[in-house]
Amino acid sequence: MTTVKAYGAINATDPLEQLTIERREVGPHDVLIDIDYAGICHSDIHTIRGEWGPITYPQVVGHEIVGRVAAVGSDVTKHRVGETVGVGCQSSSCRECAQCRQGHDQYCLKGNVQTYDGVDVDGTITQGGYSEKTVIDENFVVTIPESLDRAKAAPLLCAGITLYSPLKHWGAGPGKRVAIVGMGGLGHMGVKIAAALGADVTVLSRGTRKREDALAFGASRYVDTTDAEAMKELAGSFDLIVNTVSAPIDLASYLTLLDVDGALVVVGAPPEPFAVPAFSLIPARRTLAGSTTGGIPEIQEMLDFCAEHGILPETELIEVDDINAAWKRVLDADVRYRFVIDTKTFR
Ligand code: NAP
Ligand code: ZN
Ligand code: ZN
Repeated sequence: MTTVKAYGAINATDPLEQLTIERREVGPHDVLIDIDYAGICHSDIHTIRGEWGPITYPQVVGHEIVGRVAAVGSDVTKHRVGETVGVGCQSSSCRECAQCRQGHDQYCLKGNVQTYDGVDVDGTITQGGYSEKTVIDENFVVTIPESLDRAKAAPLLCAGITLYSPLKHWGAGPGKRVAIVGMGGLGHMGVKIAAALGADVTVLSRGTRKREDALAFGASRYVDTTDAEAMKELAGSFDLIVNTVSAPIDLASYLTLLDVDGALVVVGAPPEPFAVPAFSLIPARRTLAGSTTGGIPEIQEMLDFCAEHGILPETELIEVDDINAAWKRVLDADVRYRFVIDTKTFR
């Protein structure tokens, strides 16, 4: 066991604080990573606050991790010391089920090991990336392409893949009319990726503050969701809508914006249930679906796609002492568009 500095929660309500956690010894298939950057995802906040159910404290969150390989186990072949690598939401899975065999470890039928608050292979509770170092199985570590700015790449490991996967699955590309609902960390990656895939992208966001940014990220249109008339005009006009909103919204009104055979994919994960009237789906053979992150092969594919297309998140680099203030700004939707913690500022 190695003791490392971290920043985490001791309960659901108090501010996060400096603490120390234990990392396992580097096993034959493990990689020791010196963490440099950790993105702040809204899921970190839902989790610590117990909004998705009870969790184990103390808990260190963070599943958008970028760092350098500091050591490798005796049987490691995928990674070498000094390489810039990333870790996302899953840090292990059964590798044997039908989903894992297809590379869809995010849908492991036996339940994968989440990077934080998961039950690890040795029975301990996993602790995430707001820390100095971590030890991860080499098969759950991805390579960050050299051309990507490593200080900005961390949010790709969750926000990037969580939008890339459904956009690819539902065929976002030339001729497809795609709407992204909510333009926070996930949403802004959705705009950039859908535009790079060749889709016609509309951003649906509250107010007009983010209009210029949405157009700069590649959207062809921006509609203020508080403008009832403008929303009404969008009826039946999309093939795919991806909802990234962290709070409950009136899904029924968004379903009516889909054309016949259109799909609305939920990735935003508020704890409250959605109300879905049958007749928001039936008359136009609409699909309501969900999607989570992406498997390891698809994460690597997404990173390579972002490198090829020069796609990076918009980030604000913060020091460890700024984490609690940053969480508040995430809750206030006052983040443009992802906070990244410089973990070298741990004291
Ligand atoms: P975020 O940066 O806070 O963005 C959420 C956006 O939702 C905000 O920027 C805002 O967009 C909109 N919003 C927030 N409160 C709202 C309200 N009361 N009414 C209407 N719109 C509101 O969060 P994020 O990190 O992108 O995460 C978004 C959600 O996805 C979270 O629930 C998170 O847990 C979930 N998530 C899911 C997965 C998955 O695998 N499915 C992965 C990662 C995250 P506007 O200001 O543009 O309106
Ligand atoms: Zn996340
Ligand atoms: Zn599996």
